[in-house]
Amino acid sequence: MSNRTFTMIKPDAMKNGHAGAILDRIIKEGYRIVALKQTKLSAEKAGEFYAVHSARPFYGELVEFMSSGIIIAAILEKENAVASFRTLIGATDPAKADEGTIRKMYATSLGENAVHGSDSDENAEIEGSFFFSGLEKF
Ligand code: ADP
Ligand code: MG
Repeated sequence: MSNRTFTMIKPDAMKNGHAGAILDRIIKEGYRIVALKQTKLSAEKAGEFYAVHSARPFYGELVEFMSSGIIIAAILEKENAVASFRTLIGATDPAKADEGTIRKMYATSLGENAVHGSDSDENAEIEGSFFFSGLEKF
């Protein structure tokens, strides 16, 4: 187990002023920041990141949303990081997310759901390396 996961604070949470609160929560929950940057995805890059969803009906909307504004991307480290972080962020649909989860507290809607969290160790590595070079991971 790598004990690392990858996250993004999505454009809705950035625009709504929740980035500070979300980062504070992540740090207080015991995640160590391995890498962190503020950036903006082009539609092409957002499409590449979410290529696994390209056949889904919401793909176009997702790409448009994820390239609509600034994001924060980060690699996080904690024991059992992938699974524990998925628990911390809550269900994809904030209406179904548990009380106190990041999506319950800060998400706008099913599509605009405040944060990303990797779903496997393998994808955490792929996604982290999509944004960060070896020289940016500590
Ligand atoms: P998660 O981010 O919880 O892993 P998925 O990998 O299934 O969820 O979907 C990726 C992202 O696509 C979601 O976080 C959300 O932003 C968007 N999305 C998922 N399902 C829908 C949907 N039915 N309608 C609109 N957007 C969706
Ligand atoms: Mg996913």
